[in-house]
Amino acid sequence: MAENDCIFCKIINREIPSDILYEDDDVLVFPDISPVAPVHLLVITRKHIPSLAEMDEADTPLVGKLTKVANQLARDKGLANGYRLTVNSGPDGGQLVPHLHMHLLGGRKLRWEN
Ligand code: AMP
Ligand code: ZN
Repeated sequence: MAENDCIFCKIINREIPSDILYEDDDVLVFPDISPVAPVHLLVITRKHIPSLAEMDEADTPLVGKLTKVANQLARDKGLANGYRLTVNSGPDGGQLVPHLHMHLLGGRKLRWEN
């Protein structure tokens, strides 16, 4: 399901280097290249889904698994005081990379910005 010129597909295929912290048949986790918090990880689907808005009904368990893996990484990173999971979808949602991913943010008190 790799898409030409998709930066996250290139990370999955090891065409672009990244420090992959977790990977299984469905999901990979690596640090965001421009972190906005002490912990800023990206939890992505191995399948190229362009955005949350474009998920199929059959992708529902996969999207649930993103959350499960993000929770696990939050525990591994010691974010016992809380954290934030964010999925930006589409231009108004602030999505820049068109491959479904969840941001895991933590390690400081986060403000709500919109
Ligand atoms: P979004 O705006 O939700 O699409 O988020 C895309 C995120 O991908 C941004 O926070 C970028 O900093 C991050 N990003 C872009 N290129 C890379 C890369 N090569 N490795 C890790 N993170 C990246
Ligand atoms: Zn992709």
